[in-house]
Amino acid sequence: MDSMINRYTADRKIRSDDAYTPGDVGGKRPDRAAIVYSQRCREAYPDVPIILGGIEGSLRRIAHYDYWSDKVRRSIVVDSKCDLLLYGNAERAIVEIAHRLAAKVPVHDIVDVRGTAFVRRQTPEGWFEIDSTTVDTPGHVEAHINPYLMISDQARENGATCAREDEAQTVADLQNAANPSSLPSSSVKPLQFVPSPSMPALRGKGTHKVPPRDLSVIRLPSYEQVKSDPVLYAHANRVLHLETNPGNARCLVQAHGEGHTARDVWMTPPPIPLTTAEMDAVFDLPYARSPHPSYADENGSHDGATKIPAWEMIRFSVNIMRGCFGGCTFCSITEHEGRIIQSRSEASVLREIEDIRDKVKGFTGVISDLGGPTANMYRLGCKSPEIESACRKPSCVYPGICSNLTTDHGPLIQMYRKARSLKGIKKILIGSGLRYDLAVQSPEYVKELVTHHVGGYLKIAPEHTESGPLSKMMKPGIGTYDRFKSLFDKFSAEAGKKQFLVPYFIAAHPGTSDEDMMNLAVWLKKNGFRADQVQTFYPSPMATATAMYHTAKNPLRKISRESEKVDVVKGEKRRRLHKAFLRYHDAKHWPLLREALKAMGRSDLIGNGKHHLIPTWQPLSDDYQSARRKNSTPGSLKSKAPRPGQLLTQHTGLPPRKKS
Ligand code: SF4
Repeated sequence: MDSMINRYTADRKIRSDDAYTPGDVGGKRPDRAAIVYSQRCREAYPDVPIILGGIEGSLRRIAHYDYWSDKVRRSIVVDSKCDLLLYGNAERAIVEIAHRLAAKVPVHDIVDVRGTAFVRRQTPEGWFEIDSTTVDTPGHVEAHINPYLMISDQARENGATCAREDEAQTVADLQNAANPSSLPSSSVKPLQFVPSPSMPALRGKGTHKVPPRDLSVIRLPSYEQVKSDPVLYAHANRVLHLETNPGNARCLVQAHGEGHTARDVWMTPPPIPLTTAEMDAVFDLPYARSPHPSYADENGSHDGATKIPAWEMIRFSVNIMRGCFGGCTFCSITEHEGRIIQSRSEASVLREIEDIRDKVKGFTGVISDLGGPTANMYRLGCKSPEIESACRKPSCVYPGICSNLTTDHGPLIQMYRKARSLKGIKKILIGSGLRYDLAVQSPEYVKELVTHHVGGYLKIAPEHTESGPLSKMMKPGIGTYDRFKSLFDKFSAEAGKKQFLVPYFIAAHPGTSDEDMMNLAVWLKKNGFRADQVQTFYPSPMATATAMYHTAKNPLRKISRESEKVDVVKGEKRRRLHKAFLRYHDAKHWPLLREALKAMGRSDLIGNGKHHLIPTWQPLSDDYQSARRKNSTPGSLKSKAPRPGQLLTQHTGLPPRKKS
């Protein structure tokens, strides 16, 4: 867990609790723990190489916008002074680096392992540097003249002709036809130029020759540039996201500092995904399946005062895959785990369920989740490895499901069936988030899920109803939610179960106008939803939506100084308003909503009818609580609507009189 996200709310307020700490106690870890721990290790063991890993380092591998200090920070490689940063799932890199260090290879010579970042003074010889430090490309740029080609040859290479020289050529052709003896004899050898063997060859045809990917490095705008220029920040973010497919990603380099402090942060391409056999080997290791004994209470257990809430959540859950090809812009999972799904074998998953059943204290027969970043991407992926390794799309399911994507939920259905038939297993719940646009491709899967694996409520995340914000989130339209809901309702009824969908929404996401939030609130009211908890957009490091938030640019499209501007919801008042729309039913927000609706010219939504969003009246404030009430179970704190015919006063619901 990222130490900042763990410690602060989306409104930058300090949390009093910490689900990852024994006893749920907040404040036990330092802010920016990865940097602090790395520095302490350096102080304690100055000669020991520091290899930094984990999600906090992974998502800060290049210069990044830091929401908590509201500024762009340097790569964590520079700030932590680590020798190597391992980003993403790093099993391969850890093993490789451990072997090399054991063979006494100096850590600074380890510069070719995938999924690493480190500091380098300069680009080594033999590498092609692709300059991507600017977004200004003013029109068509002429290719350099090749000194070894005639202008007409060069023109032909470009698919054009050179009129002047072609004229000369026509004349020469005519002359040669009239006098064949003037043609050069075959013994005359023309001069040939051959590329130097010490230089890697360019690849491709015609003028579109490109350096080999494995020897190409893209130079991003420097830290100093992205810090002072939001457009270059958005551009760097876009380039980073384009270079995330292990099948075609190139190295990236970003300069930090100037003059004598100048150095480059160099990033190798992302790790190659693990095969199923490798995933099984990782998951089949003999894990303790318990928090560290030092966190136990006086009875040696983890159920009392030292209970760790996050452990409770994962204690009986099984991770079946990793990676996500959804590409939701507010989420950073793809930047960490990648877009290619890495699945365990069915046998390995079933073995783990049996292991939990047999070894974990307190198991009652209920598995709380069989999932991963997404519940239903198990064994899904591109139909062809060749196509997959050439693809640079940020999502396989947006704007629609890619025709190359396999959406067969068969292996997952089969695994659910086998898992719930294991001896001693009473129930298998699915707690991970469901990608419902994929699920509707397989009604059989929805049936299986709804009939056997829903505990009354199923949380799903349409995130919004309006196309503006949805397009900035890369999420499907609300029509897909409706399709899923009708399947959910149908199969629940067939199973004789009363089950409910609980949709989740995000307030204040980049690209969301006040009208979008109002429309969402109207949709919620129409569909009878009253959100208990609401999520305001939380700009996490490196996410595309965070780049939108910081720069008001859209990195999903090519960035230029004139490219699309995004409506960014900043400032406490506007973020509060967006949140208030999600909680339209909470009387506390009504004054703010009334004011906003009037300003938006939508006073028609204020009234006491069913079709109105909020009423004209205000209940007596329940902010004040007498000591007696505080110490007792609240009775009816709910606001009461006035009875028909009741005279409205300030005591029965009218807003306070305006002071003149
Ligand atoms: S081609 Fe389609 S399915 Fe294949 S990786 Fe690209 S987006 Fe995904």
